[in-house]
Amino acid sequence: MSYVKGLFHGTGTLLTGLKVTFKEFFTPKVTEQYPENRATLKMYDRYCGELTMPHDAEGHNKCIACGLCQTNCPNGTIRLVTEMVTDPATGKAKKRLVRYEYDLGSCMFCHLCVNGCPTGAIRFTTKFEHAVFTREKLVKQLNR
Ligand code: SF4
Ligand code: SF4
Repeated sequence: MSYVKGLFHGTGTLLTGLKVTFKEFFTPKVTEQYPENRATLKMYDRYCGELTMPHDAEGHNKCIACGLCQTNCPNGTIRLVTEMVTDPATGKAKKRLVRYEYDLGSCMFCHLCVNGCPTGAIRFTTKFEHAVFTREKLVKQLNR
């Protein structure tokens, strides 16, 4: 009797498994076929791929060289080179950004730099293909 009972139980579990398998044949696919779908692949807007500094049509950015992003960064990923200039409007001395360096290789995408920026001068793009042959190529100048 226990043999027949076991047979029914085994058939029942087999059918349950097959039900799941056949259901998956007809559900929409969620797996991305990368890199075959490279041309159409769209990343989520919240994805942090690479830090950038947007520039307007005249080539200006919003950075005021305050250095908060550099101070906030826990990895020393951002390095600012600044100089003091005289503001023609006020005649007062002010800091000017000379070079904004970002080392993608040591960034942990924590967003602390972006969150701390008072002018919204930096933001993350969703670019995720970063393969290069040398580490030096991961160090990027963000300002023009
Ligand atoms: S995301 Fe984090 S680790 Fe990367 S540069 Fe900004 S503060 Fe530094
Ligand atoms: S990017 Fe923002 S936080 Fe960093 S130096 Fe420029 S203005 Fe300051």
